[in-house]
Amino acid sequence: MKTPTITIAGAGLVGPLLAISLRQRGFPVVLYERRADMRRVQVSDGRSINLAVSARGIYALQQAGVWSELRDIAIPMRGRLMHLLTGELIFQPYGQDESEVINSVSRAALNIALLDAAEAAGAQFTSSNAASDVLAPTMALLCVCATNNRARKQRLPPKS
Ligand SMILES: Cc1cc2nc3c(=O)[nH]c(=O)nc-3n(C[C@H](O)[C@H](O)[C@H](O)COP(=O)(O)OP(=O)(O)OC[C@H]3O[C@@H](n4cnc5c(N)ncnc54)[C@H](O)[C@@H]3O)c2cc1C
Repeated sequence: MKTPTITIAGAGLVGPLLAISLRQRGFPVVLYERRADMRRVQVSDGRSINLAVSARGIYALQQAGVWSELRDIAIPMRGRLMHLLTGELIFQPYGQDESEVINSVSRAALNIALLDAAEAAGAQFTSSNAASDVLAPTMALLCVCATNNRARKQRLPPKS
C-alpha cells in the first residue's frame, strides 16, 4: 500500500517538530503555514520573545536533532525573584538544586531551527497558505495549532 502523505496545518512550534518525527518514520509530509515564512519576513504574533524550555522540551528537540545548535543560545534560569509589597526580594528556585534549571530560548530561533530541520528531513513547506484554502477534501490532515491538543495525542508508529 502507498504510504499516505500527511498534511500538517501550522508551522508554529509543534508543526515542524511533528513533521520531523513523521519523516523519521518514513511518511511524506506537507506542511502549510498561514503566515509568511518567518525565515524571510519578520513575523510578530505578540507572544513572548523567549520561551522557557524544560527537560521534556529538550528531549523532544534532541529527538528532532536540533538541540545541539540551540543549546549554545539557551540561557539557564535557576529561579525567579519575587518582589514583595514590603520591598523585600525573595528568590524562588525552579529546581531542587542548582543543577535543575529551565532554559530561556528565543522563540524565533527555535521555530526557525525546527523549520530548517523539517525541510532538511524532506518535509515540503508552503508558507502564506492556510491549509484549509488549499487542501483537497480527501487528503489526510493533522491539525496542529495551539487550540487543538487532540492531534498531539495520536500515537505514531515506531521509527523505521
Ligand atoms: C505569551 C505566551 C508565552 C508562552 N511561553 C511559553 C514558555 O515559556 N514555554 C513554553 O513551553 N510554552 C510557552 N507558551 C506556549 C507555547 O507558545 C505553545 O505551547 C506553542 O506555541 C504551541 O505550538 P503550536 O505549534 O501548537 O501552536 P502555535 O505556535 O500557535 O502555531 C500554530 C501555527 O499554525 C498556523 N495556523 C493556524 N491555522 C492555520 C491554517 N488553517 N493553515 C495553516 N496554518 C495555520 C498559525 O499561523 C501558527 O503559526 C507560551 C504561550 C504564550 C501565548
